[in-house]
Amino acid sequence: MVLLKGAEVSAKIREEVERQLAAMDGYVPVLAVVRVGERPDDLSYEKSALARMKKFGMDAVSVSFPADVDMEVFRREFSGINEDPRIDGILLLRPLPPQLDEKEIRRMICPEKDLDGICPENIAKVFEGDETGFAPCTAEAVIRLLKAYEIPLEGKRAVIVGRSMVVGRPLAMLLLKENATVTVCHTRTKELEAVCRQGEILVAAAGRPRMITGEFAGDGAIAVDVGINVDENGNLCGDMDLDSVGKKAAMATPVPGGIGAVTTAVLAEHLARAAASRRKKRN
Ligand code: NDP
Repeated sequence: MVLLKGAEVSAKIREEVERQLAAMDGYVPVLAVVRVGERPDDLSYEKSALARMKKFGMDAVSVSFPADVDMEVFRREFSGINEDPRIDGILLLRPLPPQLDEKEIRRMICPEKDLDGICPENIAKVFEGDETGFAPCTAEAVIRLLKAYEIPLEGKRAVIVGRSMVVGRPLAMLLLKENATVTVCHTRTKELEAVCRQGEILVAAAGRPRMITGEFAGDGAIAVDVGINVDENGNLCGDMDLDSVGKKAAMATPVPGGIGAVTTAVLAEHLARAAASRRKKRN
Protein backbone atom coordinates (compact mmCIF):
# COMPACT_ATOMS: atom_id res chain seq x y z
CA MET A 1 0.00 0.00 0.00
CA VAL A 2 1.33 3.41 -1.01
CA LEU A 3 1.05 6.23 1.53
CA LEU A 4 -0.19 9.51 0.02
CA LYS A 5 1.75 12.10 1.96
CA GLY A 6 0.49 15.64 2.44
CA ALA A 7 3.95 17.18 2.85
CA GLU A 8 4.91 16.45 -0.76
CA VAL A 9 1.71 18.01 -2.06
CA SER A 10 2.12 21.00 0.22
CA ALA A 11 5.67 21.55 -1.13
CA LYS A 12 4.26 21.71 -4.68
CA ILE A 13 1.60 24.23 -3.60
CA ARG A 14 4.32 26.29 -1.91
CA GLU A 15 6.14 26.60 -5.23
CA GLU A 16 2.94 27.97 -6.80
CA VAL A 17 2.50 30.46 -3.95
CA GLU A 18 6.10 31.62 -4.32
CA ARG A 19 5.49 32.26 -8.01
CA GLN A 20 2.40 34.33 -7.17
CA LEU A 21 4.28 36.30 -4.50
CA ALA A 22 7.17 36.99 -6.85
CA ALA A 23 4.75 38.89 -9.10
CA MET A 24 3.63 41.15 -6.22
CA ASP A 25 6.70 43.45 -6.00
CA GLY A 26 7.45 42.66 -2.36
CA TYR A 27 3.85 42.98 -1.14
CA VAL A 28 3.17 40.60 1.77
CA PRO A 29 -0.45 39.32 1.90
CA VAL A 30 -2.10 39.26 5.32
CA LEU A 31 -4.53 36.67 6.67
CA ALA A 32 -6.84 37.34 9.64
CA VAL A 33 -7.79 34.23 11.62
CA VAL A 34 -10.97 35.02 13.56
CA ARG A 35 -11.57 32.87 16.63
CA VAL A 36 -14.30 32.95 19.26
CA GLY A 37 -13.42 31.20 22.54
CA GLU A 38 -10.55 28.84 23.23
CA ARG A 39 -11.59 25.47 21.82
CA PRO A 40 -8.48 23.26 21.63
CA ASP A 41 -9.11 22.25 17.99
CA ASP A 42 -9.53 25.93 16.99
CA LEU A 43 -6.31 26.85 18.79
CA SER A 44 -4.48 24.02 17.09
CA TYR A 45 -5.79 24.92 13.59
CA GLU A 46 -5.04 28.60 14.21
CA LYS A 47 -1.48 27.78 15.26
CA SER A 48 -0.82 25.69 12.17
CA ALA A 49 -2.48 28.26 9.85
CA LEU A 50 -0.39 31.12 11.28
CA ALA A 51 2.81 29.08 11.03
CA ARG A 52 2.04 27.96 7.46
CA MET A 53 1.39 31.53 6.20
CA LYS A 54 4.72 32.68 7.65
CA LYS A 55 6.53 29.66 6.23
CA PHE A 56 5.10 30.48 2.79
CA GLY A 57 6.34 34.10 3.07
CA MET A 58 3.06 35.75 4.05
CA ASP A 59 1.69 37.26 7.23
CA ALA A 60 -1.17 36.34 9.53
CA VAL A 61 -2.85 37.88 12.54
CA SER A 62 -5.13 36.29 15.06
CA VAL A 63 -8.26 38.18 16.11
CA SER A 64 -9.90 36.50 19.08
CA PHE A 65 -13.09 37.10 21.02
CA PRO A 66 -14.31 35.74 24.34
CA ALA A 67 -16.66 32.74 24.02
CA ASP A 68 -19.58 34.86 25.32
CA VAL A 69 -19.11 37.82 22.92
CA ASP A 70 -22.52 39.17 21.91
CA MET A 71 -23.73 39.42 18.33
CA GLU A 72 -23.72 43.21 18.19
CA VAL A 73 -20.08 43.50 19.27
CA PHE A 74 -19.02 40.64 17.02
CA ARG A 75 -20.89 42.06 14.02
CA ARG A 76 -19.21 45.45 14.48
CA GLU A 77 -15.71 44.01 14.93
CA PHE A 78 -16.12 41.52 12.09
CA SER A 79 -17.27 44.32 9.75
CA GLY A 80 -14.09 46.18 10.66
CA ILE A 81 -11.92 43.19 9.67
CA ASN A 82 -13.96 42.71 6.50
CA GLU A 83 -13.41 46.31 5.45
CA ASP A 84 -9.82 46.67 6.66
CA PRO A 85 -7.74 47.27 3.49
CA ARG A 86 -4.67 45.70 5.16
CA ILE A 87 -6.42 42.32 5.41
CA ASP A 88 -6.40 40.22 2.22
CA GLY A 89 -8.19 37.14 3.52
CA ILE A 90 -10.25 35.88 6.44
CA LEU A 91 -10.46 32.46 8.05
CA LEU A 92 -13.38 32.25 10.48
CA LEU A 93 -13.01 29.29 12.83
CA ARG A 94 -16.30 27.46 13.30
CA PRO A 95 -18.64 26.33 14.74
CA LEU A 96 -19.50 29.59 16.48
CA PRO A 97 -21.18 29.67 19.90
CA PRO A 98 -25.00 29.68 19.78
CA GLN A 99 -25.50 33.38 20.59
CA LEU A 100 -23.80 34.30 17.28
CA ASP A 101 -25.84 34.06 14.09
CA GLU A 102 -23.45 32.10 11.88
CA LYS A 103 -25.73 32.41 8.85
CA GLU A 104 -25.69 36.20 9.07
CA ILE A 105 -21.90 36.25 9.45
CA ARG A 106 -21.44 33.95 6.46
CA ARG A 107 -23.53 36.38 4.42
CA MET A 108 -21.49 39.36 5.68
CA ILE A 109 -18.06 38.08 4.74
CA CYS A 110 -16.64 39.75 1.66
CA PRO A 111 -16.49 37.02 -1.06
CA GLU A 112 -13.03 38.22 -2.20
CA LYS A 113 -11.66 37.66 1.34
CA ASP A 114 -13.61 34.47 2.07
CA LEU A 115 -10.69 32.05 1.77
CA ASP A 116 -12.57 29.04 3.16
CA GLY A 117 -15.57 29.37 0.84
CA ILE A 118 -18.31 29.89 3.43
CA CYS A 119 -20.34 32.75 1.90
CA PRO A 120 -23.29 31.99 -0.43
CA GLU A 121 -21.50 33.43 -3.48
CA ASN A 122 -18.49 31.13 -3.11
CA ILE A 123 -20.65 28.10 -2.28
CA ALA A 124 -22.73 28.76 -5.41
CA LYS A 125 -19.56 28.90 -7.50
CA VAL A 126 -18.44 25.51 -6.18
CA PHE A 127 -21.82 24.06 -7.12
CA GLU A 128 -21.64 25.66 -10.57
CA GLY A 129 -18.10 24.39 -11.18
CA ASP A 130 -16.90 28.00 -11.44
CA GLU A 131 -13.30 28.17 -10.24
CA THR A 132 -13.13 31.95 -9.84
CA GLY A 133 -14.27 31.78 -6.20
CA PHE A 134 -12.85 29.98 -3.19
CA ALA A 135 -13.82 26.38 -2.41
CA PRO A 136 -13.64 25.18 1.21
CA CYS A 137 -9.94 24.47 1.77
CA THR A 138 -10.32 20.89 3.06
CA ALA A 139 -12.50 19.79 0.15
CA GLU A 140 -10.07 21.36 -2.32
CA ALA A 141 -7.15 19.74 -0.46
CA VAL A 142 -8.55 16.29 -1.29
CA ILE A 143 -8.63 17.12 -5.01
CA ARG A 144 -5.16 18.70 -4.89
CA LEU A 145 -3.70 15.60 -3.24
CA LEU A 146 -5.31 13.19 -5.72
CA LYS A 147 -4.13 15.32 -8.65
CA ALA A 148 -0.62 15.74 -7.25
CA TYR A 149 -0.33 11.94 -7.15
CA GLU A 150 -1.71 11.82 -10.71
CA ILE A 151 -4.66 9.68 -9.70
CA PRO A 152 -7.18 9.78 -12.56
CA LEU A 153 -10.63 10.95 -11.46
CA GLU A 154 -12.59 10.94 -14.70
CA GLY A 155 -15.18 8.17 -14.76
CA LYS A 156 -14.10 6.86 -11.33
CA ARG A 157 -16.63 5.80 -8.72
CA ALA A 158 -16.06 8.02 -5.70
CA VAL A 159 -17.78 7.39 -2.37
CA ILE A 160 -17.73 10.04 0.35
CA VAL A 161 -18.80 9.28 3.93
CA GLY A 162 -20.10 12.59 5.29
CA ARG A 163 -22.34 15.31 3.84
CA SER A 164 -21.37 18.46 5.79
CA MET A 165 -21.13 21.83 4.07
CA VAL A 166 -17.48 21.99 5.12
CA VAL A 167 -16.28 18.76 3.55
CA GLY A 168 -18.70 16.18 2.11
CA ARG A 169 -20.98 18.32 -0.06
CA PRO A 170 -18.41 20.69 -1.59
CA LEU A 171 -16.08 17.74 -2.19
CA ALA A 172 -18.88 15.92 -4.04
CA MET A 173 -19.20 18.96 -6.34
CA LEU A 174 -15.44 19.20 -6.90
CA LEU A 175 -15.25 15.48 -7.75
CA LEU A 176 -18.22 15.86 -10.13
CA LYS A 177 -16.37 18.68 -11.87
CA GLU A 178 -13.54 16.20 -12.42
CA ASN A 179 -16.09 13.85 -14.01
CA ALA A 180 -16.08 11.28 -11.22
CA THR A 181 -19.34 9.46 -10.41
CA VAL A 182 -20.09 10.44 -6.84
CA THR A 183 -22.05 8.82 -4.01
CA VAL A 184 -22.46 10.76 -0.76
CA CYS A 185 -23.17 8.69 2.39
CA HIS A 186 -24.49 9.77 5.78
CA THR A 187 -26.02 8.34 8.95
CA ARG A 188 -29.16 7.12 7.13
CA THR A 189 -27.28 5.34 4.34
CA LYS A 190 -28.24 1.68 4.19
CA GLU A 191 -25.59 -1.01 3.82
CA LEU A 192 -22.84 1.54 4.26
CA GLU A 193 -20.01 -1.00 4.09
CA ALA A 194 -21.23 -2.41 0.77
CA VAL A 195 -21.73 1.09 -0.69
CA CYS A 196 -18.24 2.12 0.41
CA ARG A 197 -16.69 -1.01 -1.11
CA GLN A 198 -17.99 0.20 -4.49
CA GLY A 199 -15.76 3.25 -4.29
CA GLU A 200 -12.63 3.24 -6.39
CA ILE A 201 -11.96 6.40 -4.42
CA LEU A 202 -13.19 6.30 -0.82
CA VAL A 203 -13.20 9.46 1.28
CA ALA A 204 -13.89 9.39 5.03
CA ALA A 205 -15.25 12.64 6.46
CA ALA A 206 -17.56 11.41 9.22
CA GLY A 207 -15.83 12.72 12.34
CA ARG A 208 -15.84 9.22 13.87
CA PRO A 209 -12.44 7.97 15.06
CA ARG A 210 -11.21 4.95 13.03
CA MET A 211 -14.76 4.11 11.94
CA ILE A 212 -13.77 3.10 8.40
CA THR A 213 -12.04 -0.28 8.53
CA GLY A 214 -10.93 -2.70 5.82
CA GLU A 215 -14.53 -3.99 5.63
CA PHE A 216 -15.45 -0.68 3.96
CA ALA A 217 -12.64 -0.67 1.41
CA GLY A 218 -12.78 -2.26 -2.02
CA ASP A 219 -9.70 -4.08 -3.32
CA GLY A 220 -7.26 -1.57 -4.77
CA ALA A 221 -9.22 1.47 -3.59
CA ILE A 222 -7.68 4.90 -3.10
CA ALA A 223 -8.53 5.76 0.52
CA VAL A 224 -8.54 9.39 1.64
CA ASP A 225 -8.96 10.19 5.32
CA VAL A 226 -10.17 13.71 6.08
CA GLY A 227 -10.90 13.02 9.76
CA ILE A 228 -9.07 14.75 12.57
CA ASN A 229 -9.99 13.23 15.93
CA VAL A 230 -8.40 12.69 19.28
CA ASP A 231 -8.71 9.07 20.44
CA GLU A 232 -9.30 7.76 23.96
CA ASN A 233 -5.52 7.92 24.64
CA GLY A 234 -5.28 11.55 23.56
CA ASN A 235 -3.62 10.71 20.22
CA LEU A 236 -4.54 12.30 16.90
CA CYS A 237 -6.32 9.86 14.60
CA GLY A 238 -8.40 9.88 11.44
CA ASP A 239 -11.79 8.49 10.52
CA MET A 240 -10.06 5.45 9.00
CA ASP A 241 -8.25 2.58 10.65
CA LEU A 242 -5.19 2.75 8.40
CA ASP A 243 -3.78 -0.68 9.38
CA SER A 244 -7.04 -2.36 8.47
CA VAL A 245 -7.87 -0.24 5.37
CA GLY A 246 -4.28 -0.65 4.17
CA LYS A 247 -4.82 -4.41 3.73
CA LYS A 248 -7.36 -3.69 0.97
CA ALA A 249 -6.55 -0.24 -0.41
CA ALA A 250 -3.82 0.40 -2.98
CA MET A 251 -3.12 3.89 -1.66
CA ALA A 252 -4.15 5.76 1.49
CA THR A 253 -3.53 9.03 3.31
CA PRO A 254 -2.19 8.93 6.88
CA VAL A 255 -3.42 11.03 9.82
CA PRO A 256 -1.50 13.08 10.78
CA GLY A 257 0.52 13.89 7.67
CA GLY A 258 -2.20 13.59 5.04
CA ILE A 259 -5.04 15.95 4.13
CA GLY A 260 -4.50 18.25 7.15
CA ALA A 261 -1.07 19.28 5.84
CA VAL A 262 -2.54 20.08 2.41
CA THR A 263 -5.47 22.07 3.85
CA THR A 264 -3.31 24.88 5.28
CA ALA A 265 -1.25 24.94 2.07
CA VAL A 266 -4.48 25.44 0.08
CA LEU A 267 -5.41 28.21 2.52
CA ALA A 268 -2.05 29.87 1.80
CA GLU A 269 -2.64 29.56 -1.93
CA HIS A 270 -6.09 31.13 -1.54
CA LEU A 271 -4.53 34.01 0.42
CA ALA A 272 -1.96 34.69 -2.31
CA ARG A 273 -4.71 34.56 -4.95
CA ALA A 274 -6.98 36.89 -2.93
CA ALA A 275 -4.15 39.39 -2.49
CA ALA A 276 -3.23 39.26 -6.18
CA SER A 277 -6.79 39.90 -7.32
CA ARG A 278 -7.32 42.73 -4.81
CA ARG A 279 -4.11 44.39 -6.03
CA LYS A 280 -5.17 43.97 -9.64
CA LYS A 281 -8.53 45.65 -8.91
CA ARG A 282 -6.80 48.56 -7.16
CA ASN A 283 -4.28 49.20 -9.97
P1 NDP B 1 -19.68 16.89 10.63
O1 NDP B 1 -19.87 16.33 11.99
O2 NDP B 1 -20.22 18.24 10.32
O3 NDP B 1 -20.33 15.88 9.57
C1 NDP B 1 -20.11 14.50 9.67
C2 NDP B 1 -20.85 13.82 8.56
O4 NDP B 1 -20.58 12.43 8.65
C3 NDP B 1 -22.36 13.98 8.60
O5 NDP B 1 -22.86 14.19 7.32
C4 NDP B 1 -22.86 12.65 9.18
O6 NDP B 1 -24.11 12.26 8.68
C5 NDP B 1 -21.78 11.69 8.69
N1 NDP B 1 -21.64 10.58 9.62
C6 NDP B 1 -21.32 10.62 10.94
N2 NDP B 1 -21.32 9.39 11.46
C7 NDP B 1 -21.65 8.55 10.47
C8 NDP B 1 -21.84 7.15 10.40
N3 NDP B 1 -21.69 6.36 11.47
N4 NDP B 1 -22.19 6.61 9.22
C9 NDP B 1 -22.35 7.40 8.12
N5 NDP B 1 -22.20 8.73 8.13
C10 NDP B 1 -21.85 9.30 9.30
O7 NDP B 1 -18.13 16.79 10.34
P2 NDP B 1 -17.20 17.65 9.32
O8 NDP B 1 -17.64 17.41 7.92
O9 NDP B 1 -17.05 19.02 9.81
O10 NDP B 1 -15.81 16.93 9.56
C11 NDP B 1 -15.61 15.57 9.22
C12 NDP B 1 -14.25 15.15 9.69
O11 NDP B 1 -13.26 15.91 9.01
C13 NDP B 1 -14.00 15.40 11.19
O12 NDP B 1 -13.17 14.36 11.68
C14 NDP B 1 -13.26 16.71 11.21
O13 NDP B 1 -12.42 16.84 12.35
C15 NDP B 1 -12.44 16.59 9.96
N6 NDP B 1 -12.03 17.86 9.36
C16 NDP B 1 -10.78 17.90 8.87
C17 NDP B 1 -10.30 19.02 8.28
C18 NDP B 1 -8.92 18.98 7.69
O14 NDP B 1 -8.38 20.02 7.36
N7 NDP B 1 -8.34 17.79 7.49
C19 NDP B 1 -11.11 20.26 8.21
C20 NDP B 1 -12.49 20.08 8.62
C21 NDP B 1 -12.90 18.90 9.21
P3 NDP B 1 -25.49 13.04 8.96
O15 NDP B 1 -25.46 14.22 8.01
O16 NDP B 1 -26.56 12.08 8.62
O17 NDP B 1 -25.45 13.46 10.39
